[in-house]
Amino acid sequence: MLQDQEAHAAEMERTFIAIKPDGVQRGLISEIVSRFERKGYKLVAIKLIVPSKEFAQKHYHDLKERPFFDGLCDFLSSGPVLAMVWEGEGVIKYGRKLIGATDPQKSEPGTIRGDLAVVVGRNIIHGSDGPETAEDEIALWFEPKELVSYTNNAEKWIYGVN
Ligand code: UDP
Ligand code: MG
Repeated sequence: MLQDQEAHAAEMERTFIAIKPDGVQRGLISEIVSRFERKGYKLVAIKLIVPSKEFAQKHYHDLKERPFFDGLCDFLSSGPVLAMVWEGEGVIKYGRKLIGATDPQKSEPGTIRGDLAVVVGRNIIHGSDGPETAEDEIALWFEPKELVSYTNNAEKWIYGVN
């Protein structure tokens, strides 16, 4: 049965995804972007940015008590990061599935980290872990005007919306 437009719109959500400096330097941008794109999610914002250490500390503020926090923030601010917002039904949770477990030694093959990374400190990609973090991270990394609203003509084929 086809979903109606209203039900579809109500399920739409946005998540913050970033390719960290290791993923950018290793030439994995197109590989990673294509996995989200081919799945059927819609890209609504994208930019290449070198975050300051202070910015990295804000992004990872939940982890400030962890022993790896300082090294992690140094690393995130060590080079260009590809910051993105992706939109789709269930994209927050399923985006995390595409990414795979935090430790690439435990990520399933077929996931981004499972296929493309080996150690937890260089796991190439970040994805918001829930609706509140997604909202906070999108607001931290992007100005509202950088989020592009447009119609994706493939949507009726991806979602079966009538
Ligand atoms: N991290 C690390 N050592 C650890 C755990 C995490 O270096 O023991 C890094 C890793 O890069 C991870 C990031 O800290 O992606 C954020 O940790 P989180 O638990 O939020 O994992 P994620 O949400 O990225 O899967
Ligand atoms: Mg996290």
